[in-house]
Amino acid sequence: MPVKSLRLLSVLALTAAAGVFAQDFPTKQVVVVVPFAAGGPTDTLARNLGVALTGSLKQQVIIDNTAGAGGTIAYNKVAKAKPDGYTILIAHIGMATAPALYRKLPYDPLADFEYIGQVADVPMTFLGKKGLPPNNFKELLAYIKANKGKLNYANAGLGAASHLCGLLFMSQIETELTTISYKGTAPAMTDLIGGQVDLMCDQTTNTTQQIKAGTVKVYGVTSRQRVPSLKEIPTLAEQGLKNFEVVVWHGLYAPKGTPKPVINRLVAALQAAVKDPTFKTRLADLGAEPVPVAKANPEALRTHLQAEINKWAPIIKKAGVYAD
Ligand code: ASP
Repeated sequence: MPVKSLRLLSVLALTAAAGVFAQDFPTKQVVVVVPFAAGGPTDTLARNLGVALTGSLKQQVIIDNTAGAGGTIAYNKVAKAKPDGYTILIAHIGMATAPALYRKLPYDPLADFEYIGQVADVPMTFLGKKGLPPNNFKELLAYIKANKGKLNYANAGLGAASHLCGLLFMSQIETELTTISYKGTAPAMTDLIGGQVDLMCDQTTNTTQQIKAGTVKVYGVTSRQRVPSLKEIPTLAEQGLKNFEVVVWHGLYAPKGTPKPVINRLVAALQAAVKDPTFKTRLADLGAEPVPVAKANPEALRTHLQAEINKWAPIIKKAGVYAD
């Protein structure tokens, strides 16, 4: 047989084998990379999702916390991971803001991933440490103005949702706060409870329990509507910050080149998860909501990511914030 035909035969055999492997997926545990510290909002969402995915994939789903650089270390890690479906990424709105915030990114959010689907939308809450004097949002604004340069604000790094919320807040009240960055809002929350930081804006998946336990002060929610599980807390918009809205959307991604049958299997598992009553109830208790099933697919995620990249680029450019 000519060498060329032999080569073609072996390529065909390999492709067929990859197809067979892909049909069997998964035959071992699947790792979901979380771009922030353990115990924080993304981690909490991922761990609840992991339980739901385990149910339909019939394999264990485990979490790998790769925190740092506002999530971009994790995004890059998954962009470069083996494209076999065993390493996937949960990423939030930061996936869309990073291209405008970082001058050099070692990955391309639109070229280096396969999309699985959107996962959940999570509102945020604006918090202060328990000992902070203001008892409501109006008093907080006056207090910030009267104490210019004295208050600090915790976030989870450039591109984190807490960073974004802080940016919008500072630009609307036209006052700077000193920013302290953490590897996630879990360690930031520890310092807020401990009184080492004054203010933070964080997702309800991390703040609901603290608000209910009274370990922090809450000044408002960042969604357009009130959050059903925290309905006594007014929105920032209804307290005077017109058009203030941050809702943290999340997507599930795989490295570029992950075989189609594997992606399809992951999409089916994600769609089962967003319909799973236990997952839904768990998220509702934490002020969050899985997306409707129509958004839990690759096309919906890709379209939303592109729209969000376009939306945030001019806002971030105007704010003049970036990292080299
Ligand atoms: N979601 C991040 C975390 O899990 C925090 C953030 O985006 O602000 O810590």
